Amino acid sequence: MAVIIDGRAIAQKIREDAKRRTAALLERGIRPCLAVVLLGEDPASASYVNAKEKALAEAGMDSRDLRLPASTSEADLLALIASLNRDSLVHGILVQLPLPRHIREERVITAIDPAKDVDGFHPVSLGKLVLGQTGFIPCTPNGIAALLRELPITLNGAHAVVLGRSNIVGKPLAILLSRRDINATVTICHTGTKDLASITRQADILIAAAGKPALVSADMIKAGAAVIDVGVNRVEDPSAKKGWRLRGDVDFKAVSEKAAYITPVPGGVGPMTIAMLIRNVAEAAEQAGNLH
Ligand code: NAP
Repeated sequence: MAVIIDGRAIAQKIREDAKRRTAALLERGIRPCLAVVLLGEDPASASYVNAKEKALAEAGMDSRDLRLPASTSEADLLALIASLNRDSLVHGILVQLPLPRHIREERVITAIDPAKDVDGFHPVSLGKLVLGQTGFIPCTPNGIAALLRELPITLNGAHAVVLGRSNIVGKPLAILLSRRDINATVTICHTGTKDLASITRQADILIAAAGKPALVSADMIKAGAAVIDVGVNRVEDPSAKKGWRLRGDVDFKAVSEKAAYITPVPGGVGPMTIAMLIRNVAEAAEQAGNLH
């Protein structure tokens, strides 16, 4: 039976460290501040934003809550970002994705000053990640790497299979895991992958980030593997109060009987993502205050 990785507990340690860093910044008259931009009323996006703002407050940080109608034009959003870039009281800028269809995400992400790109999605941040330079690392991949480092397993030389190649999870995660400080051998899978199970079965570490509920079944994993479930999928459940519940990309019950370590959904990767965001905001504020 797998050990269930407690993402909340590991995240809490990172958040406490960010809180200490914030206290040190406050003594120098700097209050770390994240501007959080949300367009529209999507309930899932709103709940992510609320969770992030709550975590910022708990760390003693400020947040600038900017909720705009879904009809906001791309030009108006870009103008807002330009003003936040200039605002010395704002250390980080987060635009909650996905954006309404009439807005080009790429334009918006690229408009954020890389010094305030705490989500790590700007081409400069991703370029630095590829080159092994210091920069903001996207929060979910960074959180997964931090989780893996907490496990009593050898990452050096391990075969890590990343299921998914999105710009925000799969791709940066594959790069991060293959960097020399982690030194895993990485395989990336996607919808073009032939015989997916034959590859996932080779994984010492399997990270599922496909956005498909229970895609990973027990016969797709090697006995004793570490399984990290990134998926957050709303599935219908008439017995649940809201009529739905969250399900990961992994068939948790069956896979936990075969894996050595597994993350739950919720309570695994999600809290780590928020913790890494808080850490990045502390980092951005320290850099703005020339404390590095
Ligand atoms: P995405 O942009 O939709 O990317 C999904 C990736 O999975 C794509 O590369 C896709 O391949 C691949 N894929 C989908 N179905 C597949 C299949 N049957 N076989 C092989 N590959 C398959 O999603 P994302 O933004 O990376 O997010 C992935 C999941 O993680 C979602 O459930 C999302 O909600 C969740 N998430 C969680 C957190 C967190 O903090 N917990 C953060 C971010 C995302 P193609 O490229 O070929 O289409």
